Amino acid sequence: MTTNRPPSITEPSRQLSVYGEFDVVVVGGGPSGLAASVSAAKHGAKVLLVERYGFLGGMGTAGGVTNFAGLYGRKNGEMQQVVHGVVDELLARMEALGGVNAPQDGMQGRIRVRSYDVSALKCAADQLLLASGVGILFHALAASVIMQGSHIEALVIETKSGRQAIRARSFIDCSGDADVAAFAGAPFELGDGHGSGLFPTTMFRVGHVDAPNALAAVGEFKAINTFMEASQAREPGRYTFPRAGAILRPQKNPTEWRANVTQVANAGGTAMDATDAKQLSDGEIEGRRQITEYFSFLRNEVPGFKDSAIVDIAAQIGIRETRRIMGDYVLTGEDILSSARFDDAIGINAWPMELHAAGRIDWQFPRNWDSSTGRVYNDLPWRMLVPKGVGNLLVAGRCASMTHEGQSAARVSGGCFVMGQAAGTAAAALSAGQTFADTDIKKLQKNLRQDGAYFDDEL
Ligand SMILES: Cc1cc2nc3c(=O)[nH]c(=O)nc-3n(C[C@H](O)[C@H](O)[C@H](O)COP(=O)(O)OP(=O)(O)OC[C@H]3O[C@@H](n4cnc5c(N)ncnc54)[C@H](O)[C@@H]3O)c2cc1C
Repeated sequence: MTTNRPPSITEPSRQLSVYGEFDVVVVGGGPSGLAASVSAAKHGAKVLLVERYGFLGGMGTAGGVTNFAGLYGRKNGEMQQVVHGVVDELLARMEALGGVNAPQDGMQGRIRVRSYDVSALKCAADQLLLASGVGILFHALAASVIMQGSHIEALVIETKSGRQAIRARSFIDCSGDADVAAFAGAPFELGDGHGSGLFPTTMFRVGHVDAPNALAAVGEFKAINTFMEASQAREPGRYTFPRAGAILRPQKNPTEWRANVTQVANAGGTAMDATDAKQLSDGEIEGRRQITEYFSFLRNEVPGFKDSAIVDIAAQIGIRETRRIMGDYVLTGEDILSSARFDDAIGINAWPMELHAAGRIDWQFPRNWDSSTGRVYNDLPWRMLVPKGVGNLLVAGRCASMTHEGQSAARVSGGCFVMGQAAGTAAAALSAGQTFADTDIKKLQKNLRQDGAYFDDEL
């Protein structure tokens, strides 16, 4: 049946009830949103964090990432923690819950990470925000903004109580997808800017693993890839692997392993676009399809996994990259490779470029990666949080102002904690009518230092 109906429809205007008025509203409870809301509250602001799910943690929990990367970097030949501040309080609470692993090294000592349990991050994050005085509104989706000139007057949310508005002096977009910035009309780039981007991955965890056998066979960072290559060489066509460069690692309890192995494309073969509703929906199904295939390989071919079981498939497909705002400074791949320094530094990114390309991961380390002197990491500049054209908005986390290449590094948790802490601290200091472009950087840096953030001041 054909219809002559137009492809769009006009929504009647309506009055929205105001949920509340705040100094700072943070959208999104991932690493950047946690650090932003806690920092703003600690500096005296009345803060509300709005999160679409019923728990905090962002990709770390909802996406099943369960691993902090980017907290450690090498200086003068020694690996050390170079991201401090709010994250230390979170780690301490996770440790008290027994849910975070000791640091693990990989890639010939070039990276150090800490894996954790989803439940520990969820519960520790609740505790941390409540103890800091942050208000939380779960199950609230940021859906729009109401502008007054170049300022956001209110955020519009969809909730089970209906559509409501929230007024605030300033807003911090930690949605990962720059949703608020896009609603407000700030310029952004999507993915790699050429119709693709970092490919997404649906994460899963395998339990009931025979730990001694599994650790002996695939305990080394890249050992699983040898099993994949051997299986394909022996029986071509039996297993189809979505990408080379699988990451299969033990959790705190080594009878449970996390698998970062799937890769989800759209129908055209480029990276699935998580800002496209239909692609996002189709991608969830494709991610789970790949998991069932990969799990049969694990059980059949990898020592220690014969009697294992899938204990969790992440609540949502893991999204690495969607919108990135084009702000006052755009962090580049060259900044990562050259271990760049900035006068307006807010902290450190210590992760290399990790480009999830079609069928593979391209790792690119800073050029001085094997140096026994100096630092093998870059500063993150304040300007990457400041969008163009919207006076009372900051954007922190994986949707901050970076190129596709720069984002492939600074998107991991370590950099997101740094950006969030700086954004929250600055937002608490913004007075009515002021814009973030007027921020006193020296004062911000002083406040961050006092709150334990790490700056590498030595030349
Ligand atoms: C498969 C995969 C593996 C990864 N592996 C690692 C790793 O090993 N180590 C590491 O450190 N990093 C890893 N990363 C990267 C890292 O997890 C993310 O880049 C990081 O979590 C980004 O933090 P964020 O705060 O910017 O956003 P996110 O963690 O994406 O959090 C955004 C939050 O905002 C909420 N939200 C989004 N839109 C709205 C809206 N409109 N309204 C309300 N709430 C909203 C979301 O529900 C979410 O809670 C991985 C990422 C993926 C996808």
